[in-house]
Amino acid sequence: MTTTTTVTQEQLDKCTRIYDENHNNEVFYLVENSRGDVDDEGNIIEYTVRYLKGKGLTCTCPAGNPPADEHGFFKYAPRMCWHIRAAVAHAVLYRQERCEQSQIESYVRQGVDRETYSQPTQYPEAVLQISGCALTVPLS
Ligand SMILES: [Zn+2]
Repeated sequence: MTTTTTVTQEQLDKCTRIYDENHNNEVFYLVENSRGDVDDEGNIIEYTVRYLKGKGLTCTCPAGNPPADEHGFFKYAPRMCWHIRAAVAHAVLYRQERCEQSQIESYVRQGVDRETYSQPTQYPEAVLQISGCALTVPLS
């Protein structure tokens, strides 16, 4: 799986990043279902996307959790869903943004104003550092 799969802005907008302080500072995502379906109480159905050590990315939606038949066999193979792709894309963008932000802040502290900074041709070093930010680990 790569994060280069196309994820639309609409899909990104359905992702909510959750930082769970009470639970090991775990980061996970709630992703709204694409059809806007609601549950019995009228709440938008959301699926939880988590990164589990040793298991990888998981999602609580039906695609990733097929029902089993009476023998315990999955009725269909678990599929990679767009919820996971969107959550990962969101996490990558989030990290990129945060990384970029801290770079900008460190330059501001050094007396380089934001406007000057944002012209990358004058600061090739800064740009290199930004693209060097770790973007590969999912979610957290
Ligand atoms: Zn899913």
